[in-house]
Amino acid sequence: MSNSKHTFLEYSAQAAVVGAVHAGCEAALALARTGIDTVLLTLNLDSIAFLPCNPSIGGTAKGHLVREIDALGGEMGIVADDTALQIRMLNVGKGAAVQSLRAQSDKNAYHREMKRVLENTPNLRIIQAEVSEILVENHQCVGIKTTYGGVISCQAVILCTGVYLNGETITGQVVQKSGPNGFAPANYLTQSLIDIGFKVRRFKTGTPARVDSRTVDYSKCEIQNGDEDIYPFSFMHDKAPENKMPCYLTYTNLQTHGIIMDNLDRSPLYDGTILSTGPRYCPSIETKVVRFKDKERHQIFLEPEGADTLEVYVQGMSTSMPHDVQKLMYKSVAGLENADIMRYGYAIEYDCIDTLDVLPTLEFKKVSGVYTAGQINGTSGYEEAAAQGLMAGLNASLKLRGLPPFVLRRDEAYIGVLIDDLVTKGTDEPYRMMTSRAEHRICLRQDNADFRLTEKGKEVGLVREDRYQRYLLRKEKYEELLRSLQTRVPQKEATAFLAGYGYGEPSGGVSYADMLKRSIPLKDIMAHFNVFSEYPKNVLETAEITVKYEGYLKQGWELIEKAKRLEEKVLPEDINYHEIHGLRLEAREKLDRVRPFNLGQAGRISGVNPADVSVLMVWLATRT
Ligand SMILES: Cc1cc2nc3c(=O)[nH]c(=O)nc-3n(C[C@H](O)[C@H](O)[C@H](O)COP(=O)(O)OP(=O)(O)OC[C@H]3O[C@@H](n4cnc5c(N)ncnc54)[C@H](O)[C@@H]3O)c2cc1C
Repeated sequence: MSNSKHTFLEYSAQAAVVGAVHAGCEAALALARTGIDTVLLTLNLDSIAFLPCNPSIGGTAKGHLVREIDALGGEMGIVADDTALQIRMLNVGKGAAVQSLRAQSDKNAYHREMKRVLENTPNLRIIQAEVSEILVENHQCVGIKTTYGGVISCQAVILCTGVYLNGETITGQVVQKSGPNGFAPANYLTQSLIDIGFKVRRFKTGTPARVDSRTVDYSKCEIQNGDEDIYPFSFMHDKAPENKMPCYLTYTNLQTHGIIMDNLDRSPLYDGTILSTGPRYCPSIETKVVRFKDKERHQIFLEPEGADTLEVYVQGMSTSMPHDVQKLMYKSVAGLENADIMRYGYAIEYDCIDTLDVLPTLEFKKVSGVYTAGQINGTSGYEEAAAQGLMAGLNASLKLRGLPPFVLRRDEAYIGVLIDDLVTKGTDEPYRMMTSRAEHRICLRQDNADFRLTEKGKEVGLVREDRYQRYLLRKEKYEELLRSLQTRVPQKEATAFLAGYGYGEPSGGVSYADMLKRSIPLKDIMAHFNVFSEYPKNVLETAEITVKYEGYLKQGWELIEKAKRLEEKVLPEDINYHEIHGLRLEAREKLDRVRPFNLGQAGRISGVNPADVSVLMVWLATRT
């Protein structure tokens, strides 16, 4: 395919978004919903909001991102609820900070619903075309050009190109220029990114086979149903989605592992065909068998891809082995002995940029008006992509409206942790969000995402009135309940109730809150004293956590206040680190590369140690 020499003005708009999957959809909606005339481009309209890998939204820490996107006025949570096949709360055996929602999504329905939302959004035009060039004048974006010669003049472009830039799929020794699932790759834009100053590197990810559900023997697997009585992704919904379809659990075995080890020399991961870096936390089955030799079996989840298809996603068995080896591998798994493979697993390599070149607003440091979001930033995952898309779209909109940037701190949101990690530390492998990355996770729970973010979403113009009123009502009810929980229970009744939990006679009055602090479940208190049943589940949940974890939360807020003091020590934009006496050479180079905004960010740069931060602190103090 060639790149047309003839050009014509396709559209003049304020902003363009290149890519219409998780990052692109949120970016385009954030721009258009805040009044920006936006054009959304994709290589194929049928790939809008496509789930190329696991048919699910959410998971550990990813559920937090979805709730935060929703609280800020984004779309992923709403569509995930509306197209869920089942929904579960993960890590219920652990603390509230790490409990995460995960929905099995109907892939085709997710695509259709998000496409419908985009097509019905004012200020938004959608076009199927490959973007081949970013047009720049005096370090300012002035438009984009397609391979067909169409020019879209605009002041901002959000690049959400995912796994398509010079995309190559690899299965065995077969390497093809391709996007996921046979969609066309993007063959021209990478050169334009390099021409305007981006550093480009190559990452890789992989996906498992899809098998025909009619050929799976589910009697050899453990059924896994969704959870009842949990809350939904979106704060705009009162009830969690209905559980329509189960998943199934099975395992690999020593025979599976043997087949892999016997054919490792034919794996493109081990014969040098694939040289790029893959996701550490979503490894292929080959890598798992090699890395964990002592493990006799690995969990495999059989996940339905949709209500209108027989395709089943074999989660946990991502592979790029040759087809004949894949056939043997899958058939060795209990329940898959007679499985027909409808789509074989494969790996995909693609170009992505170095995020040390972008600002916390996700704007490129070298060219104003160029933003990057999603997999192009070296992350892996639908939720990580959507969060970046929303923030890049919002910041482009704010800049076009002449308003100050919107950057979330690490103590405000997982989105803040995600973007700060990318622009301060960078990443040398596909970055996946995890709760362990968030030092303030006790305060950044799923259940309180709206209390942390909806006001901010309102201030930047993305949260609509109906969402804002729901938030105000929930907040009002929550504060009312917190007050009511302080109500003292008559001594005699309290003593009798507490005895049931092995507590002796309490000295002095006892409130419901005191009982919660004794880890007595709120639902037991409600049932016994017949109180608080008028409050909705999501209000009860947040109030119970706030009271029960009061001590930890207090410590958490104190840590946040301490961290904030360093965040508030702003570093001048024109600072010359090479002139500051006492800074180590490595620190000077790293500080000059990242150009941190404040002392807090400076301290998080790898290679900048606490002694360097003290030198900067003294330097700052002597300037004022
Ligand atoms: C095979 C495979 C396996 C994966 N495995 C995992 C996994 O195990 N775990 C995980 O967390 N994530 C995985 N992912 C990643 C996950 O799919 C992505 O993180 C997510 O889809 C990224 O979303 P995105 O919006 O950044 O980009 P993508 O979903 O890649 O979408 C990019 C969009 O950009 C468009 N586009 C690209 N270039 C151009 C251009 N020049 N002009 C016009 N349009 C363009 C495309 O048409 C598409 O609409 C996998 C992805 C693939 C493909």
